[in-house]
Amino acid sequence: MNTKQIKAFGTEAADAALEPLAITRRAILPNDVEIDIEYCGVCHSDLHFARNDWGFSVYPVVPGHEIVGTVTQVGDKVTAYKVGDVVAVGCLVDSCRSCNNCKADLEQYCPEWVGTYGGHDKHLDMQTFGGYSESIVVDEHFVLRVPDNLDKAAIAPVLCAGITTWSPLRHWNVGKGTKVAVVGLGGLGHMAIKLADALGAEVTLLSRSPSKTKDAMDLGADHVVISTDESQMAEVQGVFDLIIDTVPYIHDINPYVGTLATNGTLVLVGYLGPLDPMLNSMPMIMGRKNVAGSLIGGIAETQELLDFCGEHGITSEIEMIRIQDINTAYERMLKSDVHYRFVIDMASLKP
Ligand code: NAP
Ligand code: ZN
Ligand code: ZN
Repeated sequence: MNTKQIKAFGTEAADAALEPLAITRRAILPNDVEIDIEYCGVCHSDLHFARNDWGFSVYPVVPGHEIVGTVTQVGDKVTAYKVGDVVAVGCLVDSCRSCNNCKADLEQYCPEWVGTYGGHDKHLDMQTFGGYSESIVVDEHFVLRVPDNLDKAAIAPVLCAGITTWSPLRHWNVGKGTKVAVVGLGGLGHMAIKLADALGAEVTLLSRSPSKTKDAMDLGADHVVISTDESQMAEVQGVFDLIIDTVPYIHDINPYVGTLATNGTLVLVGYLGPLDPMLNSMPMIMGRKNVAGSLIGGIAETQELLDFCGEHGITSEIEMIRIQDINTAYERMLKSDVHYRFVIDMASLKP
């Protein structure tokens, strides 16, 4: 198969810094779209994957799944896109297209879904490489249309941080008056606040960081509770219909379960792995409370979100960086010093 070598930024090992790399992209197939990447958001998952936090990274790793760019080539059978269109690619670049999840527009739960990085490209028989690169080739089914009234850089984080919080908000029918809490004010957290607010919910941020209070209110939160302050947490016992927990590392979720209303649900989207301390079933049984998880969102739902953002003028709060600053950005992310999403200007990778 015809291939092309392009410039990228990635890492060869869990303990190595990200640096310039050359990677292989396939030449376009009949259903493919080639995209010149202009902006790529920086997700905490990129850091987890580069450093093998989840134990299944395949090296070299080229992260990046919040991609916005312009179409430069289309295959013979492509109908939805043409050269020059502004498009986006999120966390998924392929799936089986025939299982029950794929048929229900839930490609993210397909047993054969292919991640934008660290997945398996069946055409090249090697791992997929993400958006910290010059260009990408993707089947048109997994390409999204970007509303033309929105800033191309600031819309990039919607492709992961946005859809990962939108999907639970929609699944649990958040609307006017629903009491939603968001745990952690980072990339996902700030989009969760904006989107829940736009859906009409009463929104509370549960954060360890008192310094983020004003920002949270500016983003659309109605209340801020400092999660390490027991008296503040006592005041919100039994209150929330839905909690979206974005914390990336192991933490005690039991105090948050206590803040759920009867029938309320805490959705874990951040930490992946066994809980410690263990989950206490007592408050769940006594109050019919639920603890759940959720993974990104399907392609149709991601397009629905992009269109919603277009209608409501919603984008992410971004700090633009050059690709050469990515290692510093990761260190700042580890200190929760993100306000509220880094986006890479990919022109910095080009000559
Ligand atoms: P982020 O920008 O780094 O934000 C995480 C926030 O969590 C921080 O700003 C901080 O907020 C809080 N936090 C960090 N460490 C904490 C700790 N040890 N204990 C309590 N709170 C802590 O990260 P992100 O990009 O939003 O990603 C969040 C997580 O979601 C990551 O693990 C990522 O891999 C995951 N993720 C999951 C999906 C999915 O489909 N489920 C999709 C994308 C990302 P405060 O300062 O306000 O406390
Ligand atoms: Zn992500
Ligand atoms: Zn499938």
